[in-house]
Amino acid sequence: MAQTTPNHTQTVSGWAAHDPSGKITPYTFKRRENGINDVTIKILYCGICHTDIHHVKNDWGITMYPVVPGHEITGLITKVGGNVTNFKVGDRVGVGCLAATCLECEFCKESQENYCDQVQFTYNGIFWDGSITYGGYSKMLVADHRYVVHIPENLPMDAAAPLLCAGITVYCPLKDNNLLDLPGKRIGVIGLGGLGHVAVKFGKAFGHHVTVISTSPSKEKEARDRLGADDFIVSTDAAQMKAGKRSLDFILDTVSAYHSLGPYLELLKVNGTLAIVGAPDKPMDLPSFPLIFGKRAVKGSMTGNMKETQEMMDMCGKYNIMCDIETVMPEEINEALDRLAKNDVKYRFVIDIANQKPSSL
Ligand code: NAP
Ligand code: ZN
Repeated sequence: MAQTTPNHTQTVSGWAAHDPSGKITPYTFKRRENGINDVTIKILYCGICHTDIHHVKNDWGITMYPVVPGHEITGLITKVGGNVTNFKVGDRVGVGCLAATCLECEFCKESQENYCDQVQFTYNGIFWDGSITYGGYSKMLVADHRYVVHIPENLPMDAAAPLLCAGITVYCPLKDNNLLDLPGKRIGVIGLGGLGHVAVKFGKAFGHHVTVISTSPSKEKEARDRLGADDFIVSTDAAQMKAGKRSLDFILDTVSAYHSLGPYLELLKVNGTLAIVGAPDKPMDLPSFPLIFGKRAVKGSMTGNMKETQEMMDMCGKYNIMCDIETVMPEEINEALDRLAKNDVKYRFVIDIANQKPSSL
């Protein structure tokens, strides 16, 4: 489709999956010319989010093949459009999940454009010109400047990349539940993966007691020693789950696969909230008893708006918070996706798109 869209004249090398086998192969495609509201970005790094697996395997049944995944993008500006005043050539920038929103609805007007009904994503979206959006597993991106953020000078471009999705996705529910301003709460993070490990870092930075709730006993030592978690509950251990009953004010659920929410809800105090950001393909089991006996709430959260994304990025710059990453070369993407599917990564793969090895400030 993109090949026939007018103004899509720029040839770009990237990597795409072509069917639900999810196998990634080199793929050459077209991007639009740099419009007046656009910036062109030479991509340096792109994180591998579990959402990329959901898309390449068509877990959610919405994939438009070929799909060029990637929404944790960092790079350098090479061109700016006539209307763009806040970026210049050479700027260090990042692009996350959002590619376009209507700019007119109540959510767009109130800086909550991530909840715009017409939101289009960085990949597997349909842009206003009818083209399918292609993501950051590619050498170059043309992005509307309204969905681009500055990366603080002190953050390495590789370890900052996952902040564009994993970071903002866990920052928002913490902010939304007043956990940025009110320290000293007891919070739980279910799933110590890409999203989860950033949530632990943010939870500690905001002054909370953080409990990791994990299926992987092997992650306990590192969770405590390296990430600073205060407590660790193995969710498959009934005794540990029982001991943790009614101990937490807030839980963030980052799990990518089907699970029942019932046992986790029991960990919440009365009036506690469980916020879901993980997106399993099948509906989760939500029993009513732990909800009603504890007056508990379950809610969701979808990435973040651009104002919050810049705010989070600046905060990470100020406190030197970055992601724990393993860098891979583009020809290693399939291996990385396989390992991510098997829960074998600490804690985010980042593709070295521009062959910058090891890391570039
Ligand atoms: P990830 O790195 O694979 O982490 C997910 C973690 O979930 C794993 O590390 C594992 O942690 C735990 N887990 C896996 N299978 C499990 C199971 N069957 N039962 C319980 N726990 C299990 O994935 P991610 O990149 O952080 O993404 C997580 C989810 O968030 C994905 O579904 C993704 O699509 C979604 N997501 C949503 C948004 C949003 O806007 N809401 C944004 C980004 C991503 P332990 O080993 O500690 O158990
Ligand atoms: Zn993501």
